[in-house]
Amino acid sequence: MNITVIGAGYVGLVAACCLADSGNRVVCVEADDDKLALLGQGKAPIREEGIDQMLDRCLQKGSLSFQQRIPRPVASELAVVAVGTPSLPDGATDLSSIHQVVRGLRDSTDGKLTLLMKSTVPPGTGLRLMRRYLDGTDISYVSNPEFLREGQAVKDWYHPSRIVIGTNDAEAGDMVSGLYEGIDAPKLVTSITSAETIKYAANAFLATKISFINEIANLCEAVGARVDDVSRGIGLDPRIGPDFLNAGLGYGGSCFPKDTRALNLSALSNGYDFRLLKSTIEVNGKQAIMAVRKMNSLLNGLDGRDIALLGLSFKPDTDDIRESPALNIASLLCEHDVKLRVYDPVAMANARQLLPEEVIMAPDLYTATEGAQGVILATEWSEFFKADWARIRKSMSAPCVILDGRNALSQEKIEALGFRYAGTGR
Ligand code: NAD
Repeated sequence: MNITVIGAGYVGLVAACCLADSGNRVVCVEADDDKLALLGQGKAPIREEGIDQMLDRCLQKGSLSFQQRIPRPVASELAVVAVGTPSLPDGATDLSSIHQVVRGLRDSTDGKLTLLMKSTVPPGTGLRLMRRYLDGTDISYVSNPEFLREGQAVKDWYHPSRIVIGTNDAEAGDMVSGLYEGIDAPKLVTSITSAETIKYAANAFLATKISFINEIANLCEAVGARVDDVSRGIGLDPRIGPDFLNAGLGYGGSCFPKDTRALNLSALSNGYDFRLLKSTIEVNGKQAIMAVRKMNSLLNGLDGRDIALLGLSFKPDTDDIRESPALNIASLLCEHDVKLRVYDPVAMANARQLLPEEVIMAPDLYTATEGAQGVILATEWSEFFKADWARIRKSMSAPCVILDGRNALSQEKIEALGFRYAGTGR
């Protein structure tokens, strides 16, 4: 099939490479000059396991090419929209790129086209886009929300938990279904608005699970229980399940924060007050503040202290720093007279642009922690588990505090080395 993919970010580039690698001819449209220049040199602008090799293979084969604007005419049967839908300052979804792209596709298409919406758009958006731009055209609209996880996006493309196809056009639905031929996953065909709602409901549910366990962790600290045991104890119940029950600094990233805010506003604008979701968002916002308060109390005040922050990406195995709790912590610490050194295995360049100027970017873990009185572990990179903590302990200054924001280290081992350890709900 000839396919146009619009947007070469985490979702679009993975889709473009996987589709081109599976025998399709793909033109990927990317508006950003810098990303386009990198792609032109065969370099992926994102860090994702397996993507560089796939990109290289598809470019060699000639099954994938990049350009800055939607081709005129769009010489493909299918257009996959994967542009960003970030938050506006009030939490609503910025759909400006979506409108621009749907308008652009309409204006560049003479014949038949199926528009597949992979970007996450609030419930009701698809129907509104169809009414506004596609009435009277031969363009069919299909909502096909993406559930990939950054860090394992390529694997998730080939082994998704489910494929959701929202459409009111059976022929277009069949075409999208054919796109995933050979992929073994349950397929769910729904209305467009239900498909859009499934995406938000999934993210809202997972975010709520995280906020729930964080509330339980805070309760554990109050009553003297250990959240690790509580998580395991409830997660063994198959109705609950063990995933997303790690207490810590809360969720971040490009999806959960913006999607929970957007769903909350979408509910309100449709006359529904989604109180549970509001609490999920509120609880999540508190976790970074509580971590800084905890460090303040462990160090007997933050002013004049030397602190290391380990991990900047919102989760391990990605360079994505969007809405990472680590960045909130850095900003909160910088409100005090703190000497702050940070280190992340891959997200340093991305983070530099968003961190306060006074933050020192350390070249490695050992330089970041040398002389520090306190360390905050904000992202559970495997490099940190394998670190020589005895060496770190020797190079730090009293009182050698470790605030394990992800409950990722062994408290017993860390305490045995002479650190003062604090986790969440431990
Ligand atoms: P991203 O910001 O990494 O990538 C979007 C890309 O689109 C950018 O490179 C941007 O330059 C490009 N772009 C914007 N407007 C354009 C235009 N008019 N023409 C061509 N290119 C344009 O975003 P992402 O993380 O890939 O997310 C894309 C969508 O998928 C969002 O709606 C997001 O919510 C959703 N989503 C993301 C993930 C994830 O884990 N990142 C998972 C599921 C769904």
